[in-house]
Amino acid sequence: MICNVRVPFRLAGLVAVPVACAAPADEADSEEGVQVSQVADGVYQFNAGSHNAFFVDTDGGVVAFDPISPEVAVVLGAAIRGTARDKPLAAIVYSHSDADHATGAPLLQQVFDSDVPIIAQENALPIITEAGDPSLPPPDLTFADELTLRFGGRAIELHYLGPSHTDNLLVGFVPDAGVLFAVDFVSNDRVGYRDLPGWHFDDLYVALDRLMEIPFETVVFGHGPVGDRSTIERQLAYYADLRDAVQEALDDGLSEEEAMAQVRLDDYAHWGQYEDWFPMNVGAVYRWLADG
Ligand SMILES: [Zn+2]
Repeated sequence: MICNVRVPFRLAGLVAVPVACAAPADEADSEEGVQVSQVADGVYQFNAGSHNAFFVDTDGGVVAFDPISPEVAVVLGAAIRGTARDKPLAAIVYSHSDADHATGAPLLQQVFDSDVPIIAQENALPIITEAGDPSLPPPDLTFADELTLRFGGRAIELHYLGPSHTDNLLVGFVPDAGVLFAVDFVSNDRVGYRDLPGWHFDDLYVALDRLMEIPFETVVFGHGPVGDRSTIERQLAYYADLRDAVQEALDDGLSEEEAMAQVRLDDYAHWGQYEDWFPMNVGAVYRWLADG
């Protein structure tokens, strides 16, 4: 990390929040604050409580991933303006269609007084259109498998790895910095979210393997702290071990409730949310495997 600064939410009404890398480093997270962390040259994680956005500064403007919510989008806009001094917003990218990450784009556009294009994987379009939420407008530009954005000579790749968490989750990759932005289907030493809502299990394992084919070194997650390739390798191992352990429970004739109560993976007991969410992960995988 090169710099960390916090922006209080109460400054959300101001456009020119003085976010600068010269400010004193502050690793603290708090409910009323957000934190901007530079993870590579011109590549930033924006943390607001439990959620992270991501933005990339180029000579042709800033590309912002995930406005998160109308309230946070305004603060994100102020943080981008403060960090990338005078640069215009070039595009907004939705990591996927879930409202807790994608909502707020009109507010972010408003901060820059600019109708920049919103980009998403094509399967997100009908879901967002049908939801009809004015704070989560449909994308202007979609793609099927891969799209490379180029602004000011900097490339930002968008990769669709197939269904994983939802059927439209993309990952962003900045090749010249080796930084990846990955949301919800992987995290940093944390078990999966509750009972893995919206997960496409067969395809998830394919998506995880395809993720490793991208030559990233650093990962910014939609939730939690920054990681690296070994972080993703541990996620791969976790989901493989989870599947094997639940299959064993099925082979032993355990019911779903018995599996949720008895299956343990001690190697991951120190991971985030293990006590609360691991049994729910087991139940979700049990239902998937039991359904054949
Ligand atoms: Zn999601």
